[in-house]
Amino acid sequence: MATTAESTVAAAEKYEPVIGLEVHVQLLTATKIFCSCSTQFGNPPNTNVCPVCLGLPGALPVLNKKAVEFATLAAMALNCRVNETSIFARKNYFYPDLPKGYQISQFDKPLAEFGWIDIKTANGPKRIGITRLHMEEDAGKSLHEGFPDAGERTAIDLNRSGVPLIEIVSEPDIASPDEAYEYLTRLKEIILYTAVSDCNMEEGSLRCDANVSVKPRGRKEFGTKTEVKNVNSFRFIREALIYEIERQIEVVDGGGKITQETRLYNSSEGKTYSMRSKEQAHDYRYFPEPDLLPLVVDEKWQSAIRDTMPELPEARRKRLIGDYGITEQDAQVLTVTRSLADQFESAAKAAKNPKRVANLVQSEILGRLKAKSLEIEQSPISMNGVAASADLVESGAISGKMLKDLYDLCFERSKDFPAVYEEEGRPEQSRDTGALGKIIDEIIAANPKQLEQYRAGKKTVIGFFVGHVMRASKGQANPQMVNELLTKKLDG
Ligand code: ADP
Ligand code: MG
Ligand code: ZN
Repeated sequence: MATTAESTVAAAEKYEPVIGLEVHVQLLTATKIFCSCSTQFGNPPNTNVCPVCLGLPGALPVLNKKAVEFATLAAMALNCRVNETSIFARKNYFYPDLPKGYQISQFDKPLAEFGWIDIKTANGPKRIGITRLHMEEDAGKSLHEGFPDAGERTAIDLNRSGVPLIEIVSEPDIASPDEAYEYLTRLKEIILYTAVSDCNMEEGSLRCDANVSVKPRGRKEFGTKTEVKNVNSFRFIREALIYEIERQIEVVDGGGKITQETRLYNSSEGKTYSMRSKEQAHDYRYFPEPDLLPLVVDEKWQSAIRDTMPELPEARRKRLIGDYGITEQDAQVLTVTRSLADQFESAAKAAKNPKRVANLVQSEILGRLKAKSLEIEQSPISMNGVAASADLVESGAISGKMLKDLYDLCFERSKDFPAVYEEEGRPEQSRDTGALGKIIDEIIAANPKQLEQYRAGKKTVIGFFVGHVMRASKGQANPQMVNELLTKKLDG
């Protein structure tokens, strides 16, 4: 179907997308969910296995207590109501990497329900509902490459079989690919703060399936959805959604019908492809797992779990703004990980001026990181390094310009600030007041009225002069020196 650019835009205006996300998160337990095999990633294939996770007849599952505690903590962090009793269920399907022929999951009585995540959107804050959070075991992996006669055969690695997962299902509240990206970013941030998962997408510790449909703008009933599976980065999920929404609008606007199906995203082409339609989809024949008792997380256990809850990102941002007088933007950057926020707080407590530490991150670190495509956790200059340099500027030992040069050297040499400062022989800014004195003389001479006010006792006018001198020196002058010299000259 041939469409012009204009008609595509016009069609996009007429429709709105509806998105719901299903996220699987691998829990950071040392052992699997129903046996004592290791969950270690990257071990030789089929070495972390036993009769239980191999699905051998007669082997019985024993629930891992730590997995329950991690899942419950995550549920609480996501504002879910934790059900005191939840039920494990068998989800039956046939697949080579599923040795039992069923996956133990939770179905009509999940661990937790009715949660939410608050996100920021172009139109202000928005709350995205979380329908449910349940526990389940992971399946094994089919390998198509990386062994001697690959290409002729498929190999199975069951190390992952029985690794504990939580699945977090959102309400269809997400209204754009950007909102989906934001939801995932916030979700990952919260989970990382709780430390129940490393959320490593390359290793599959966080996986997302995106459900999406389109409907005429303003209509109540949803359209038929498709599900895009196994997309391995948040950026690709956004791209896949953008493509899929455009594709669906084109179909619907051309009078066609969307088939309910599972699609795969090809990131090098930026397109989704049909994998299987709903008619081929499984009837999972769920029923309660007869080998496991109902899971009871009673009031007392819940409260013990709640006691282990760390301060979460949003609360921490609010507190940092209040405690250190930093901006919301500063707080956003400094809390991307719990470890970075910890580092900032310990550095800020030791620094003379915590606000300057935050400012330097914003004005001097982020740009240099971006130029080198580094994340803030990979910065050669640590928070302690930023604090040390901030103190040197604060005390007037080095100028702003010198700090910039030293930072450049840190990034060139991939070394922290204190090391480079030593290597450079602890440089100090010249105490030569000649040039600065000249600027001050000129500014005083140019503003006789303010000088008169000052001398008549209105000492606050010094701020006016400081501002002019700083501007004239392009911010390079040491403020303490400016103050000292100005006072001397104004008083004299
Ligand atoms: P299924 O039974 O196909 O798995 P669910 O009802 O379990 O469907 O929903 C799975 C996900 O799809 C949820 O995140 C939900 O919010 C989302 N969803 C449901 N219906 C739609 C729709 N029409 N359009 C977009 N997303 C939807
Ligand atoms: Mg589902
Ligand atoms: Zn095992």
